[in-house]
Amino acid sequence: MPKKSLNVLFASSEAVPFIKTGGLADVSGSLPPVLRGLGQDVRLILPAYPEALQRIGETREVAQLRLPGHHESVHLLEGRGENDMPVYLVDAPSAFRRKGNPYVGPKGIDWPDNHRRFTLFSRAVAALGLNRAGLDWNPDIVHCNDWQTGLVPALMDHEWQRPATLFTIHNLSYFGLFSHEAFEELHLPTDLWRMEGLEFYGSGSFLKAGLAYADQITTVSPTYAGEIRTATFGYGLEGLLQFRSNRLSGILNGIDYAAWNPATDPHLDHPYDLSTLDNRIHNKRELQREFDLPERDNALLFGYIGRLVEQKGADLILDILPRLQRQGNAQVVFLGSGNPDLEQTLREAQYQFPEMVRCRIGYDEGLSHRIEGGCDAFLMPSRFEPCGLNQLYSLRYGCVPIVHTTGGLADSVVDVTAATLKNGSATGFSFLHANPDGLWYAVHRALECYHNRPDLWLELMTRGMQSDFSWERSAGQYLRLYHKALHGEPGP
Ligand code: ADP
Repeated sequence: MPKKSLNVLFASSEAVPFIKTGGLADVSGSLPPVLRGLGQDVRLILPAYPEALQRIGETREVAQLRLPGHHESVHLLEGRGENDMPVYLVDAPSAFRRKGNPYVGPKGIDWPDNHRRFTLFSRAVAALGLNRAGLDWNPDIVHCNDWQTGLVPALMDHEWQRPATLFTIHNLSYFGLFSHEAFEELHLPTDLWRMEGLEFYGSGSFLKAGLAYADQITTVSPTYAGEIRTATFGYGLEGLLQFRSNRLSGILNGIDYAAWNPATDPHLDHPYDLSTLDNRIHNKRELQREFDLPERDNALLFGYIGRLVEQKGADLILDILPRLQRQGNAQVVFLGSGNPDLEQTLREAQYQFPEMVRCRIGYDEGLSHRIEGGCDAFLMPSRFEPCGLNQLYSLRYGCVPIVHTTGGLADSVVDVTAATLKNGSATGFSFLHANPDGLWYAVHRALECYHNRPDLWLELMTRGMQSDFSWERSAGQYLRLYHKALHGEPGP
């Protein structure tokens, strides 16, 4: 018998196309409409930032809420998103109608009242979650995301009739930390301030509240769900995550197959699919021209796209460039921005290896598509990676990924080994140790394969392009977890 359709309130501080600062927005923008497509009544709730108000178009006021600790009434506006999804904007002008970034002011410093702003947002979510906003809609599940909504499960914990709660970690390094004085301003139940609650070494953490009180916890890949239970990746929360192990699971993010489709990609001069793979070489030549590199069909062209920060390991690539040059017949293009020292080192590498290395410092959506559609291989040596998107785009575009075996990279790329060649599952090259020798081990094997085993290279490309990293697959896993949460069963 088909399971009952669920009412799901999806609470997030950002979602495309309304407001985006990072990957959280991609997930919150893609997953809810797909769940609706699977027959669930999913509704999205966001703060009414000016950009969100502008982008949503027409809205109507569906409720006014009086929330503890907030002197003005809060207006609940309803608009529509993809798949005719109701989208609620929590309109509290003094908290959210500010120019600039949702979390930081013009000087790049956190808004000083973030604790009040996101308590207010969480209270509004809880009011809807408990059907106390006068909408006559009873959520079965409230799905919370990252620290901005971490308080929601805590606020509803003592309620006699409440929806089940699921908390997803997109980035464990953002704690939503605040002082005890700040806590006292929030008029929250005082018993939340304890070691088993949101107290964290003398401060309070909204993230920890989510982890402590949610019925189910997920993160964005199964391997990362294991890694964060260790001291290396847990930032001091590993004890709590171990304690909640039977409620913690990992679900790999999907990608937007409409935006990332090499057959219809408007950024590619030569779209292609599995039956027209020969077109791809034209994209490679275009890319070499765009980067002012010598046009060499038989050079293995590597690509890198990403923030230039320690996490992403671009410095490891820089480290192996001399070896790559000695090996010969390779080129590397970089696209990214971030750490100024790293940016400068990349610029200098172009002069040191004029026929081999080019970089673009900045953010360029179109170029990121052309790199995926023109490079032969993609380098992703992240030191840690909760999920990662570029390796998924690479698989879809036949750009063979070379990755560090961590987090979502470990869960999406199958290394070439004797066993994976035999069972026909290999899709790329990976390495265990995030250091230059580790990366070289994988790059060296990729060079061997590309230059000496074109049949095998084609097999890797083909298998990657046939893999399924659609949201439909991940949405099915969320749905199963919603049902478990509803029935109080342990996950995953
Ligand atoms: P993270 O969220 O840690 O930055 P992800 O791999 O999950 O890493 O997502 C990053 C997204 O941002 C990808 O879609 C990637 O293509 C894109 N991106 C990062 N840097 C750039 C850039 N300089 N230009 C274009 N796109 C970029």
